[in-house]
Formats: sequence, structure tokens, C-alpha cells
Amino acid sequence: MGHSIGQGSFKRRGLMLILSSPSGAGKTSIAREILNRDPNLVMSISATTRSKRPSEVDGKDYYFIDKMDFEAKINNNSFIEYARVFDNYYGTPKEPVEKAILSGKDMLFDIDWQGTQQLVSKQNIGQDIVTIFILPPNISELGRRLKNREQDSLSVVEYRMSKVSDELSHYPEYQYVIVNNEIIDSVVQVEKILSAERCKIERQIGLHDFVQNLRGLS
Ligand code: 5GP
Repeated sequence: MGHSIGQGSFKRRGLMLILSSPSGAGKTSIAREILNRDPNLVMSISATTRSKRPSEVDGKDYYFIDKMDFEAKINNNSFIEYARVFDNYYGTPKEPVEKAILSGKDMLFDIDWQGTQQLVSKQNIGQDIVTIFILPPNISELGRRLKNREQDSLSVVEYRMSKVSDELSHYPEYQYVIVNNEIIDSVVQVEKILSAERCKIERQIGLHDFVQNLRGLS
């Protein structure tokens, strides 16, 4: 696993920040804002077989690929995790994750509970993962956000609404939970979590040498 510079002059282990939530809870807006504000954080761009929404850009929001390509990538072991969500495949390409972490960046993942379970259970990266579940303030707000998106057909919106209860039931599998009343408040909460997690002793791998130096022992 890679390193990056911590708040001191010593190295820090990169971390993988996972944001999950039911569809429409505001997670994508939160992720976008955090990325704008934190130069040490890069987004993991997933591949998906779902069709592109009008506002989305291929290679930026997702890599939009067909089912055959996706299945070939599964067979090539190209994904660090993948799952079927809402009848489509979604998966996290492995190579960019390894590159980012090796170059000392932290990485942000917008993935569902199935992908989170897969990453958390991986022995070599489990300790580098920080998981946050975003809850909507109430169900009517979530429904409003899903409909206002106006990018999915009514049947897709209704299907997603029918899955919300199941998705909500997975919150106890996460380390942190944030209720997304206001995007900006949630962004600040995530930043505080990130900042605390970056200070954890086990992530500050240059700490021993730094303190030895402070003590005049090296
Ligand atoms: P959407 O179609 O609204 O962009 O995403 C639907 C759901 O799929 C969201 O909960 C999102 O977090 C999840 N998702 C997106 N990319 C991935 C991925 O690479 N892996 C997994 N497991 N879930 C993903």
C-alpha cells in the first residue's frame, strides 16, 4: 500500500474512503464537493452497464460499457469489486486504485453495500478502508430528489424507491453514519472524519523516525 505526506514531514499510508447510501440521498453531490476541496483525494471511476444519463460523461462519471465487456473484465480479474445493482453491473477497476494508492493519494469510492462488503473483507486492504453511510433526512425528501433528477424514467425512479428500505437496512455495516440535511454540513462532516482518520497512528508510518528525530536519537 502506498504512502503520502501527512501533516508533519513524515509519510502516511493512503486510505480508501467509501461513501454509500440509498439512491437519492445526496451522496454524489457530497462526493463532488469533497473532491473539489481536497487535492489529496481522487475519485474511483466505476464501470457500469447501465445507460448513460444525459448529464453524464463517459470516462468521468462512469465507464459505460456493455454486458459482454463487463463480463470479460470480470473474467480477467480487472475489478477490485463488482456487484449487480438495480439489474445492472457496477464495478471498480483495480488498476487505478493501485496506482492512486501507490502514488500516495487517498481514494474516494461511491459504491453500494455489496461492494463495500467485498472491499472490507479483503485481507490486504481491509485496514485501509474508511466507510461512511449517508442517510436522507426523511423519505419524502429522498423521493423528491430522485424525481427531480429528471434523468431517469418514472419506472426507474419507482424501482429505485422500492429498493430504498433494503438499502437502508445496511447502515450498521459502516463505521460512520451522516444524516444529509444540508449538503455543505455533510461535506464538512466527511472532511472531519477524513482528517481524524488521516491522523491515526497506524496510518502515520513515518511517525517513529519523526519522533526519534525530535528526541535527538537519529
Ligand atoms: P447510479 O446508477 O445511481 O449511478 O448508482 C446506483 C448505485 O450503484 C449507487 O448506490 C452507487 O453507489 C452504486 N455503485 C456505483 N458504482 C459502483 C461500483 O463500482 N461498485 C458497486 N458495488 N456499486 C457501485
